[in-house]
Amino acid sequence: MSRISILGATGSIGKSALALIAEHPERFQVEALVAQSNAALLAEQAINAKAKIAVIADEAHFSVLQSALAGTGIEAAAGESAIAEAMARKADCVISAIVGAAGLKPTLAAIKAGSTIALANKECLVCAGDLLQQEAERHGVKILPVDSEHNALFQVFDAKAPQAIEKITLTASGGPFLHTQNLSAITPEQAVKHPNWQMGAKISVDSATLMNKGLEVIEAFYLFPVKREQIEVVIHPESIIHGLVHYVDGSVLAGLSHPNMMTPIAYALAYPQRISAPVKNLDLAAIGKLTFLEVDHAKFPALQLAYDALKTGGTATITLNAANEIAVQAFLEKRIGFLDITKIVAETLASIPSHAVSCLEDVFAADAAARALTLNLIGKNNGMAA
Ligand code: NDP
Ligand code: MG
Repeated sequence: MSRISILGATGSIGKSALALIAEHPERFQVEALVAQSNAALLAEQAINAKAKIAVIADEAHFSVLQSALAGTGIEAAAGESAIAEAMARKADCVISAIVGAAGLKPTLAAIKAGSTIALANKECLVCAGDLLQQEAERHGVKILPVDSEHNALFQVFDAKAPQAIEKITLTASGGPFLHTQNLSAITPEQAVKHPNWQMGAKISVDSATLMNKGLEVIEAFYLFPVKREQIEVVIHPESIIHGLVHYVDGSVLAGLSHPNMMTPIAYALAYPQRISAPVKNLDLAAIGKLTFLEVDHAKFPALQLAYDALKTGGTATITLNAANEIAVQAFLEKRIGFLDITKIVAETLASIPSHAVSCLEDVFAADAAARALTLNLIGKNNGMAA
């Protein structure tokens, strides 16, 4: 039996993971489930999965969780320290699927306990890629990518011959506005409707601005032994090929699957074995053709911002991520427009000089400073609009 814990159980990735786990009851046993505020769903999931403990981050929702779990034998807990305690109990695998930099501390706690990490939460690598990898190495922990592009790359990346790798390619669907000319009046409702993937609101907006691909370039940099210049992005609207590794002899290995997160989740959960996942067979003749386009950087400047932040190094990627989280939230709350998201991230990056990061405290300080500045910029922006 493989013991699994899920950070972000009530989200899009968390729900898919639980559905997959339910298909393999002989193989997986659920330990801890963690969410932010959706206590009713968390309790229901914990009961259905026969989890040992359910933890809600926001203590205001603890009473709902506690009463829903009364008499079930499932432990209920709340707050940041309770999440850390739940992660300190070693699992065979922890699915890290909280959205945003909030996933960093719990993921580190899971690494310190020696649990394998199935990583969906790209933001924690963007903020603390070196520190996370150092901790993983120190504790002998594997980080298995769940993000579809990185999962595909992981499957075709010959780790024994990194010098034979010329470059890697991440594909991007292009999001819902690939062919939309004027992006100024885009609403949150339009932005969260992704053509190929069903995902949480934040990553859906990131896909629409292409910031998601920027975060993924940084994620790839920390997951694979490649230089920044060796990571390229190509638009592939069908989302059938997710990642490609180009070798020096001209061979190119690609990872293909339907755009369904069940596949990468199944791969990471069963690694190094394989388990069945409830996905259709890939019928190439039915798909007919696959198309590829160059990225339009003038229309989607977020991707270049991420490449530049990676080049700058130090706190720049932390600033990029924090500014983006605040700006996306403001867009979802209709306080700024769609095009303002990337503009505000660029302004925040231009206003905060990057400096070196040597410890976790540096990460949190840079994250807090960028959030404060972005909120300030949004306030000014709203003031001007009023
Ligand atoms: P969702 O918004 O659907 O879910 C987020 C989850 O995180 C929810 O369970 C939420 O709880 C929980 N959460 C949020 N903040 C906290 C916190 N401070 N403490 C504890 N739990 C918290 O996101 P997705 O599932 O779409 O994405 C999760 C991560 O996976 C992101 O980093 C995303 O980039 C990545 N990813 C997602 C993919 C997808 O297909 N969805 C694909 C590739 C990567 P609650 O419900 O209570 O708010
Ligand atoms: Mg992805």
